[in-house]
Amino acid sequence: MPDTVFPAPLPVTLPVLGTGLRFPVRRVFCVGRNYADHVREMGGNPDREAPFFFTKPADALVESGETIPYPPATADLHHEAELVVALRAGGAMVPEEDAAGLIFGHAAGNDLTRRDLQAEAKAARRPWDMAKAFDLSGVIGLIHPGPVRNGAIRCVVGGTLRQDARLPDMIWPVNAIIAHLSRLVTLAPGDLIYTGTPAGVGPLQRGDTCRVEVEGLSPAVIHLR
Ligand code: MN
Repeated sequence: MPDTVFPAPLPVTLPVLGTGLRFPVRRVFCVGRNYADHVREMGGNPDREAPFFFTKPADALVESGETIPYPPATADLHHEAELVVALRAGGAMVPEEDAAGLIFGHAAGNDLTRRDLQAEAKAARRPWDMAKAFDLSGVIGLIHPGPVRNGAIRCVVGGTLRQDARLPDMIWPVNAIIAHLSRLVTLAPGDLIYTGTPAGVGPLQRGDTCRVEVEGLSPAVIHLR
């Protein structure tokens, strides 16, 4: 490595269940509007859209169990419970039938969203970055190698069940998401994909504990101060 003018940032890595090794993160992709009931709650029509994508920087990831400050510039921070897919291999123009072979494992995730900034961005036809890609916006649980059960996905805030759905409710299943995304960008080992959230998104307050559960995976828990 050549000398750099200041120390280069360390690569972002995440813990993997059952091993001392960590998962090195490259890019973080997120799917918008992938559960019909959530599309409706946001005022959209679930029948008409191909999957669309936005991103978070890798250094916006937060491991489960952390306590984070309520983020700046918002009065309406929302939780979004999501299944996260972790890739061990990449490619472009990946056929759906080959997509499963790219997957290293899965994690529970929370796509934290500054909903007020997102609403302003939508109204002004501006990008979503400052609503979605802010510091500490990507909560993620332990990465479990291998396949995931096609079961429940939930979000619990305090003792209250806020989101309660099933992974098969996704409009675009994981293999289709990977195929679509690989037609837009070349995927690579270390990429993560947040696969969208079901209905029931809502606000978090200072002092809340927010727990995302995906059946068969470790939860993604965050405490807000
Ligand atoms: Mn989301």
